[in-house]
Amino acid sequence: MTSDPILPVMLTGLLLSIFICPWTWADETIDYVPVLDTGSLTGHEILDGMDDTSPFGNSAQGYLITLADEIGARVAGTDKEEEARDYIISTLKQSGYEVSVQPFTVTTQEDETYESANIITTKQGENDATIIVGAHYDSVDDGDGADDNAGSVAILLELAQRLVNEETPYTIQFVAFGSEEEDLDGSRYFVSTITPSARKNLVGMINLDGLLAGDNLYLYGDTGVFIRDCILSTASVHDIFLETRTARELDYEDGSHCDCADYAPFEQRGIPFAYLEATNWDIGDEDGWTQVDLMYGDEGVIRHTPYDTLQYLDRVFPGRIDERLEILTMLLYESLTGCIMPGDE
Ligand SMILES: [Zn+2]
Repeated sequence: MTSDPILPVMLTGLLLSIFICPWTWADETIDYVPVLDTGSLTGHEILDGMDDTSPFGNSAQGYLITLADEIGARVAGTDKEEEARDYIISTLKQSGYEVSVQPFTVTTQEDETYESANIITTKQGENDATIIVGAHYDSVDDGDGADDNAGSVAILLELAQRLVNEETPYTIQFVAFGSEEEDLDGSRYFVSTITPSARKNLVGMINLDGLLAGDNLYLYGDTGVFIRDCILSTASVHDIFLETRTARELDYEDGSHCDCADYAPFEQRGIPFAYLEATNWDIGDEDGWTQVDLMYGDEGVIRHTPYDTLQYLDRVFPGRIDERLEILTMLLYESLTGCIMPGDE
C-alpha cells in the first residue's frame, strides 16, 4: 500500500513528564532493570515537567506514531516486538515508574519456540485493591498494527503518565501483554502467575484492544461488574456513547466461547472484566469482525490487513484517531480516579 504520509497527529508541544516516584510491587512480578539509552528515543520530544493542561490524547498521539509508524508491525518473538517492548519500558520509566518485565516462552502449533514478555508497572492507590489495565503490544505482520493494537498501548501509556502522581482510590496495574496474536500467550501467562493472595486483591481487568478504526465504541462485560458499570456511568456523564454487550454476547454462533482477546484468561480465572473495542456489529456478518463500511479496508476489516496503518486510517476517517485517543484517555482517567465501589467510600 502506498499513501500520502499525512499523519493525523503530527504534533506540536508533546509533553512528557519526568518524575522520580517508585511504586510498590505486586509480589508476582519480576524485578527487572533494563539497560536503555533514552537518547535513542525517536518518537517525540522529551521535555521536563508536566503540563496539567495538555489535552487528553496529546501524549498518546506521540506514543502511537512511534509504535505504529516508526516501529511498525511487531510480530511476537521478533526484533520488532522487542523494540516496542524497550520503547514501552523506557516510556513508563520516564513517567516515573519502576517497571517489571515478565518473560515467557511460546511454543507454536508448528512446535517452534520463541521468547516474548509482558511489561508490568504498578501505581499504588489509596487501597491495595487492584484494577488491571491491559493492552497487547504485539501485532500481526500485515499493516503496522495501528488499530490492533498500538492505539490501545498509546492510551495505556498516557494514562500511566497522567496517573503517576494522582490519588486513585484503587491500585492500578498497567500490563502491556506480549504475544497476543499467537494464542493470547502473554495474558495467559500473566494470569497463571497471579497468586491466590493477589487474586483476592483484584477488583477486575480492563482490556483495551482495537480502539482506533471501528465505527462505534463498545463496552463488553456483564452488568453488575464494578469496573464495567463505572466506565459506563462515567461515559454517560461525559456524553460518550458506548454500545454494550454482555460476555455471553461475545460467544460464537456455534455457542463456543470467544477466547478472542486478552480478557479471556482473566474471565476463565473468574476475574471480572470490562473490554473496550471499536467495531461495528451491525454490518457484514454482524459478528463484530467487520469494523467499518465494506468499501473500506478489506471488505470492512482493518485489523490483520495491510490497511491497518495510520496513513490509511487518517485518510479514510479524518479525525477519528485523534478523537478516539482523546475521549478514551479522558474516559479511563475519569473512571480510574473517580469510581469507588459501594462500601469503599
Ligand atoms: Zn488485538
